[in-house]
Amino acid sequence: MNIQTTDSSTLERVPAALREWLAKPRPMLINGKWVQAKSGKVFDVNDPATEMRLTTVAEGDAADIDAAVRAARAALDGPWGRMSPSVRGRIIHRIGDLILEHLDELAQLESLDNGKPFSVARVADVPLSADMFHYMSGWATKIEGKYIPISNLAAPGQYLSFTRPEPIGVVGQIIPWNFPLLMAAWKLAPALATGCTVVLKVAEETPLSALRLGELLMEAGLPDGVVNIVPGFGDTAGAALAAHPGVDKVAFTGSTEVGRLIVQAASRDLKKVSLELGGKSPNIVLEDADIDATIAGASAGIFFNHGQCCNAGSRLFIQEKIFDKVAAGIAANAEKIKLGVGMDPLTEMGPLVSEVQYGRVTGYLKSGMEEGARALTGGAAAGNRGYFVKPTVLVDTKPAMKVVREEIFGPVLVAIPFKEADDSLIAAANDTIYGLAAGVWTRDGAKAQQIANRLKAGTVWINCYHVFDSALPFGGYKQSGWGREMGQAVLSNYLETKAITSRIH
Ligand code: ADP
Repeated sequence: MNIQTTDSSTLERVPAALREWLAKPRPMLINGKWVQAKSGKVFDVNDPATEMRLTTVAEGDAADIDAAVRAARAALDGPWGRMSPSVRGRIIHRIGDLILEHLDELAQLESLDNGKPFSVARVADVPLSADMFHYMSGWATKIEGKYIPISNLAAPGQYLSFTRPEPIGVVGQIIPWNFPLLMAAWKLAPALATGCTVVLKVAEETPLSALRLGELLMEAGLPDGVVNIVPGFGDTAGAALAAHPGVDKVAFTGSTEVGRLIVQAASRDLKKVSLELGGKSPNIVLEDADIDATIAGASAGIFFNHGQCCNAGSRLFIQEKIFDKVAAGIAANAEKIKLGVGMDPLTEMGPLVSEVQYGRVTGYLKSGMEEGARALTGGAAAGNRGYFVKPTVLVDTKPAMKVVREEIFGPVLVAIPFKEADDSLIAAANDTIYGLAAGVWTRDGAKAQQIANRLKAGTVWINCYHVFDSALPFGGYKQSGWGREMGQAVLSNYLETKAITSRIH
């Protein structure tokens, strides 16, 4: 059976082996086996550049989630739970190696499915995913408890107390479509390093790279049932996972709106929850900044990944004296960006991921103009096929406008002038329900640190933007989330602490 129907503009650019992989309906991974949905249902996965079908994928629902959770529990109580940290670490490291061995193939899948340029996926998404497994593999042998000197007044010196960190158990992980492989890596690697087992619900828009990763996980020697991957829709598979009584913890990345639903679903059994949600990040440019570096950095801050980053620098505060120059420089950069099919080597920006996102982003553009904003460049969709939107710079905005307040999740920058780097600037930058990231551009190092300290954000970049590292914690203040991804900090998302005290006298 040949499923793919998308046209030559994309498929001719990928190797025959990948076309063959796509030509089969893709099953889900439960208990180490590749199976179809219990309902027999499948859903279409589309190429956002052509709006045509790439393949079909098994559509998991509550019954498949239940089977996956049971498999994860059995694996936790079975070989995985008994495996030495060193062997576990080696398997996790091998996963990272296998990702790098399949660099091109994974980047091609990511490009076809999500729309992002192959050239970007090849240097960003895929190597960063591998690095996350490599980095986390080292933690498997370093999750240590502590000796605690207790005072116990009634019987001093009679007890020995220490803590023993233990895996939290079966983890339900729900991920979005903007960095499909990387989000899977951010979630899976720390869960495995801490000894948890997982049911991963991938985004319905972009299930393919995680399914291919599932094949590599098995090749790396992960025991059956340690990671189960169930594609499906949010209100069926996702909701069933968040509410399943056999799940000890839910880790979610996605919209703040759905984050609330996850918390509600998980609240019945008071499951532990970590959330990485939306953002409307301020990026602040002082008049003494290096103008060329700032224009390049602020452009990347908003346009990287087509603006589909929760941490995108979407509110650019520019000091009045240099406002016109910086805004015009970014607009000029936006005009030079070459839109196209992700697999075309000349493409710098692909389509948005889906028709829904296309509608959402163009809706925001319309609302911005209706409320009085002006597009220095862009401001509309591009082309007559695929979900392309022109990179846009909006000026003449007011603080109450929807384009200023709400997360657009597209290539749309709001440029806002300010007079002085004083309390009113900090107040404006922090005037958002979100608190994920922020940027500061200035040659004055002390001032940059003062501003960074006052921004309510989980990450602050100074004279740079979008600098991520497996070792650096990432996550949000306020409604941008609970807990941190990556670094040593993420481990606490997946661990319980047991205090053990024994009488020794
Ligand atoms: P976006 O709006 O960017 O598409 P979402 O927050 O809607 O992001 O989706 C992120 C992930 O959450 C996806 O895997 C999606 O299927 C899932 N999801 C959506 N709705 C729910 C829900 N009610 N319960 C659990 N998961 C959901």
